[in-house]
Amino acid sequence: MDPAQYQRQLVQDRAHVAGGLNVRVPDGRQVAALMRVLRDLVDVAKAQHSVTPLMAFFQDNIEKADKAFLSDIPVACHRGCAHCCRIWVDASPVEVLYVAKSFSGAARDQATETFRDAVSVTGGMSSAERGKLVYPCPNLKDGVCSIYDVRPTVCRSLVSMDASVCARVFYLLSDEEIVSPAPNILLGRGYRLALAGALKHAGLAHTQVELNSSLDIAFSNPQAEQQWLEGEDPFAAADKAPEDDVMADENYRMIYETAFAGY
Ligand code: SF4
Repeated sequence: MDPAQYQRQLVQDRAHVAGGLNVRVPDGRQVAALMRVLRDLVDVAKAQHSVTPLMAFFQDNIEKADKAFLSDIPVACHRGCAHCCRIWVDASPVEVLYVAKSFSGAARDQATETFRDAVSVTGGMSSAERGKLVYPCPNLKDGVCSIYDVRPTVCRSLVSMDASVCARVFYLLSDEEIVSPAPNILLGRGYRLALAGALKHAGLAHTQVELNSSLDIAFSNPQAEQQWLEGEDPFAAADKAPEDDVMADENYRMIYETAFAGY
């Protein structure tokens, strides 16, 4: 694709995703458009030696989709309800770096210690083993997520219609099913796929990593952001999600291949 064609496509793609992914009418072409927009922002992030241009857009776009397409769905979840913040959480490496960047000074020193302590309990556990352990996320402070504005996509998309079921599942380990509305599930899948595709195409580490172990690495390695932007994987030693690569799904891979055909 020549540079003029690339720019024209990018203008169309930006317009296509300006209001966030419409998860009420799932459309792989919109996910592909978002993937290309994010891919372009990866280059901006590399040029600026910072994940912020990419992640500020990503978080803002997911907020737009949430407000536009999910706000009328009567879920039980709200800021301050944190029953589910006791389980395995995984995130894209770039989400981990963005969360780590949100801490500075004394708060960062405190978080470094808190995550080190958490990893001494949860480190090396599989998600199935974590499912049998009621252990709060270290980001939870006085019952509220302290990184709410930059929380990983997984935390945004795990929603429930009934908080009392969540309380039984996450505190008492009941095996009841948590019912999540389809559009909320699609929000998580669409944004995870678009981000992973953009990172994969740029040759950056894109597979999901467990949150406690990866934040422990991010806090203790001041070079982690630069290393990741240069194509290294500073999270190679982090615990891995069971289905860490969304591209393993052939339908998702097809969207990725369509998005970048001719690039
Ligand atoms: S990051 Fe925030 S929303 Fe996600 S599990 Fe931890 S406290 Fe809960």
